[in-house]
Amino acid sequence: MAAHDFEILDDRFQRCIRTSANVDRLFTGCRWTEGPVYFPAHRSLVFSDIPNDRMLRFDEESELVSIFRRPAEYTNGNTLDRQGRLISCQHGARRVIRTEHDGSITVLADRVDGKRLNSPNDVVVKSDDSIWFTDPTYGIDSNYEGHLAPSEIGDRCVYRIDARTHRVSKVADGFKQPNGLAFSVDERRLYIVDSGVGHGHGLMRVFDVRDDGSLGRADVFARYEHGVFDGLRVDVDGRIWTSAGEAVICYEPDGTLLGRIRFPERVSNLTFGGPKRNRLYVTATSSLYSVLVAVSGAKTV
Ligand code: MG
Repeated sequence: MAAHDFEILDDRFQRCIRTSANVDRLFTGCRWTEGPVYFPAHRSLVFSDIPNDRMLRFDEESELVSIFRRPAEYTNGNTLDRQGRLISCQHGARRVIRTEHDGSITVLADRVDGKRLNSPNDVVVKSDDSIWFTDPTYGIDSNYEGHLAPSEIGDRCVYRIDARTHRVSKVADGFKQPNGLAFSVDERRLYIVDSGVGHGHGLMRVFDVRDDGSLGRADVFARYEHGVFDGLRVDVDGRIWTSAGEAVICYEPDGTLLGRIRFPERVSNLTFGGPKRNRLYVTATSSLYSVLVAVSGAKTV
């Protein structure tokens, strides 16, 4: 696979990619891969295989994949906090956890106002150490990606865990299924995907972030007719890279669609890795892929 995997819709995308770069399949045999997170200190990538209830680790030097955690409470999204600790969303236990440096687990959020969360999906950490996550119902809608159960909250919202008080508070609602989320480089904006709008369409909103940690005005950032958005990441120049059907697509911060990188399977999520953060790791259905690009991920990813 090479140049034909890249589709340039705006000339500015030429500077973002290397059309001579290969889309490499690094591992396959999973059921639904998700939640890629890169550990710079370990030169490794951890990702989830939700229906198989396991997390895997790709070693960048040896290119070997091994089991990181199993069972894994049907873990979905992962990220690192600013101390390099793994933060994970668990469908099975319906909670957000932190894996400490000694290997122990700390529960960061499992209830709001006494009601269990639905099934936390994706998570991001802000520079003030607050943790923001989405809570759709995918992990309780069936036994495939978690445990079938009713929603106690009866809504699908986005939450913020305060770094100092550890209080969990709702920051946004009105979603069909809130999913991937990411801050802009200056953290003045928060992009949030709604993957439940139907018709195979993608919808991403962007919210103003207020100084007090609440969200302000919301706008539609992007609509897409050729696939559902799931996860997203931001590069150093503020572009938004998101999954959309069997592709990763890239937007300018002004919402202009720049281009696509095609993959052989439906893409769920992505992250920037490698020592220069210019290796795009992509989880897509049964497999993990990577491709070198000409831009680097923002340090917040
Ligand atoms: Mg997701």
